[in-house]
Amino acid sequence: MTTPSYDCFIDGAWRPAQSGRTLEVLDPADGLVLATIARGEAGDIDEAVRAARAALPGWADCVPVLRGRVLSAIARRILEEKDRLARIESQDTGKPLAQAQADAVAAARFFEYYAGVADKVLGTSIPLGPDYHDFTVREALGVTAQIVPWNYPLQIAARGLAPALATGNTVVLKPAELACLSVLELTRICHEEGLPAGVLNVVPGLGHEAGAALAAHPDVNLVVFTGSVATGSQVMRAAAENIVPVLLELGGKSPNIVLADADLDEAVPVLLKAAFPNSGQTCSAGSRVLVQRAVHRELVERLAARCRELTVGPGLQNPDIGALVSRAQQGRVLDYIRIGRDEGAEVITGGTPLPGVDLDQGNFVAPTLLDGARPEMRVHREEIFGPVLTILPFDEVEEAAALANSTDYGLVAGIWGRDVGTTNWLARTVKAGQIFINCYGAGGGVELPFGGYRKSGFGREKGLDALLSYTQVKNICTRVALRRS
Ligand code: NAD
Repeated sequence: MTTPSYDCFIDGAWRPAQSGRTLEVLDPADGLVLATIARGEAGDIDEAVRAARAALPGWADCVPVLRGRVLSAIARRILEEKDRLARIESQDTGKPLAQAQADAVAAARFFEYYAGVADKVLGTSIPLGPDYHDFTVREALGVTAQIVPWNYPLQIAARGLAPALATGNTVVLKPAELACLSVLELTRICHEEGLPAGVLNVVPGLGHEAGAALAAHPDVNLVVFTGSVATGSQVMRAAAENIVPVLLELGGKSPNIVLADADLDEAVPVLLKAAFPNSGQTCSAGSRVLVQRAVHRELVERLAARCRELTVGPGLQNPDIGALVSRAQQGRVLDYIRIGRDEGAEVITGGTPLPGVDLDQGNFVAPTLLDGARPEMRVHREEIFGPVLTILPFDEVEEAAALANSTDYGLVAGIWGRDVGTTNWLARTVKAGQIFINCYGAGGGVELPFGGYRKSGFGREKGLDALLSYTQVKNICTRVALRRS
């Protein structure tokens, strides 16, 4: 079988990188080559930005309902191709097939949701008295640069594309070199469903080449970046040179706070689902459990019992836990587990890769519980981005709030307990962009504003709040000639 290969998509056509160079994409479950992708660089980015600029007036001025219809058609098509997209995503990222299917459905939902709001981006009328007619309009920002990570390529591409396109922006997207095949398939779908040439341009390539060129391009009007704090900071610096706004979705170290009166039957399965989606390579993963001491031992035993039942294997076999995206990521996670041990945390389950006939080629790490974490430990404070859940006991509710807020991040938090006063006090006190009480995540979360406090980033994606991120307000004031009697 020939290895699939993907080019850059610029101005409505597929074309190789100007250099002719390509990159190999590896299957995380066995290390074999899955596909080759174009290795776009600054020249390709420049061409893509020019195409996006040229397409902007036609797309921004098109009747909004027509933009909505194109987005609806894309949503339908994603659902028709859901199984194929999910298989590609599962193999490319390593994630379990069922999770990849949920990602495809969420991607379709983004297009469906923003298709519905394309013609409802309203302005306001401002009363200045009878001599003036004053109103606001929300206009597209222009050419948006979107830099996408490898952990949820399809979902995150859809999350940025759908609101940007609905509001009349054009896009140059740089997907991640480690996993991006579903994004290139989505690009094909967008083209086949009638998105005009130049409105969406996609340039695969390396971060320090294509990514850096896109973030620094002087003719983009917004940079949307999802990825690590270190790269986010570089992207922000590059955009600052051009006075271009940035929307940053960065990392997390999200806590689940379990109070003594929590319903543990409800909580335990959700805590593991929150910690280990996509092998824990999820920005919003609930990677820390803070548990009130009265139920600490019981919770650890219950989590451990369930953890030992979790299956690990190649994504296409639909296990509970798939492979990590790369050998480097596997090494990083195993390093963190060693650091946690050295710092004095107790490894309750996991802590190793999974050597074995079928799995030793893949980037696997067994689901790992680290109990007895302390606030100063690196495993408590730093994002590990793997199937590792740290557990830290506390006594008083105020202590739980302080612990929850004791990292640099503030993306999501879960709170488990029956007393409404306490859970709501915690919800108000914990610094995070999303708080879940007695649940964690809600469906695909398409409707809920999502974004960080502190080093988790700023700006909001998803929901109606995303419309504010992708538009700017113009105020138009007219002095009206009044007939006076
Ligand atoms: P990363 O920052 O290394 O890469 C993200 C993207 O940026 C990739 O496309 C990469 O090619 C590109 N890139 C790398 N260097 C660049 C540069 N100098 N200039 C411009 N672009 C560059 O991050 P990652 O390893 O791909 O993803 C993991 C991180 O992303 C984690 O910290 C995770 O929490 C975060 N993340 C956040 C969210 C969110 O929505 N908040 C979602 C997914 C991942």
